[in-house]
Amino acid sequence: MSETTATRRPVIAIAGLAIETSTFTPTRTLAPAFHPDRGDEVVARYDFLGPLSARADFRGALIGHALPGGIVDRAAYESLAAEIVTRLQAIGPVDGLWYDIHGAMVVEGLDDAEADLLGRIRAVVGPEVIVSASMDLHGNVTAELAHQVDLVTCYRMAPHEDALETKERAVRNLVDVLTERPVGAQRPVKAWVPIPVLLPGEQTSTRIEPAASVYAQVAEVERTDGVLDAAIWVGYAWADQPRDRAVTVVTGWSAQAVAAGAERLASAFWDAREDFAFVAPTGTFDECIAAALAPGAARPFFVSDSGDNPTAGGSGDMSWGLTQVLANPAFAEADGPTVLYASVPGPEAVATAVEAGVGATVTVTAGAAVDDVHAGPVTMTGRVHAIKHGDRDAETEVVLQVGSVFAILTTLRKPYHHEHDFTDLDLDPRSADVVVVKIGYLEPELFDMAADWMLALTPGGVDQDLLRLGHHRIQRPLFPYDRVFPSAPDLGARIIPPSNEPLGAIA
Ligand SMILES: [Zn+2]
Repeated sequence: MSETTATRRPVIAIAGLAIETSTFTPTRTLAPAFHPDRGDEVVARYDFLGPLSARADFRGALIGHALPGGIVDRAAYESLAAEIVTRLQAIGPVDGLWYDIHGAMVVEGLDDAEADLLGRIRAVVGPEVIVSASMDLHGNVTAELAHQVDLVTCYRMAPHEDALETKERAVRNLVDVLTERPVGAQRPVKAWVPIPVLLPGEQTSTRIEPAASVYAQVAEVERTDGVLDAAIWVGYAWADQPRDRAVTVVTGWSAQAVAAGAERLASAFWDAREDFAFVAPTGTFDECIAAALAPGAARPFFVSDSGDNPTAGGSGDMSWGLTQVLANPAFAEADGPTVLYASVPGPEAVATAVEAGVGATVTVTAGAAVDDVHAGPVTMTGRVHAIKHGDRDAETEVVLQVGSVFAILTTLRKPYHHEHDFTDLDLDPRSADVVVVKIGYLEPELFDMAADWMLALTPGGVDQDLLRLGHHRIQRPLFPYDRVFPSAPDLGARIIPPSNEPLGAIA
């Protein structure tokens, strides 16, 4: 911090890598998957930076946001981290840094990639620069990461309807601290409380209790005198790492206030642990399809094929779910109940369908190119119903009608979260009988369309049945892996020192 801060706009650099990575998925994430934005592209990416530019001078280094997937290849991480460092060196001295991350990135050979990357960034910008991190509530915050930041926050809604609002809050708080902090004043105080609970996102949606009430307390704590920001991380369950667990962090100017707030939120989360339940009725895949076909079942009936959810870290490449649907005799004839299935990647199948054209009958094979743990590639003969080029994720999409099943095949994996994802393919999910999507809890547009809904506990890299996945490296005791604790967990606040002082032995 220079003493001239009060008379000029502070310079704020922006950097970060965001991905959610399952260590139970046999895929590897490479550098292009992050679709990196560099320099001015970074600033242009976020509209909310426009109004804030009157108060701060934003300089983009590099940010990358990848679809969830398998762990990040070490060389890919090294190249992206090196480019961030080089770009920060070129930007020169800064007053602040916005660290735009997810918090569940696993890199080959690293147990705390976000702390590692920020350590490299700190080595360039220096230990005195004020760093504000924005995260997904499904990220993990270790004491080391909390040590490296000055401010840290996360989403307060799952599904993440407040994603941009959260990023904006992180930046606005940073600008406030840089512009309003008295010269020579202390840095924000950080209270951190680890909670020995690890739950899937599909049991902790803030749409329903108990998460709704627990998260409602975040804003109450934030409004406390002496508090700047408050946050609860559910954590990320599908990476087998020691850092997996829920955490609260409250930041502000009063050590007493932030400690009390972090403890209040941690106790609320811990006390609710037995009450977290799946957001929808669950069943095996067969049970969910049977419920969808039962007499009187509401239409459209949505089924989440959750084990291979590509937005949670599944490969999205599995053929298991589609194989089950195609094998079901109820869907063998074209006049059977209409089923939309989204989706399976199969670049060769897509190319064959494109060459044949809409209306042609083709026999193609798709899926399980990388993730064949539970089922091999699926071969099907059907009529080409639709073809679409140019999707950012999928590249090319085709729909193949097999009996009464409309299977979406893609060149590359793609999440299906919006109504237009279907209508663009000449599919009408509202008039379908059954819509099967590789997803966990339904994203808002799907939720609105669904007349009824079940979460199928299907196998895959993001299996919702955590206990059968086989974690080996998590810190025990940890609920629900352990239901009896030898003693009550320590939910007292740990005050984390600023980055220019040693962390010490905090755990
Ligand atoms: Zn999330």
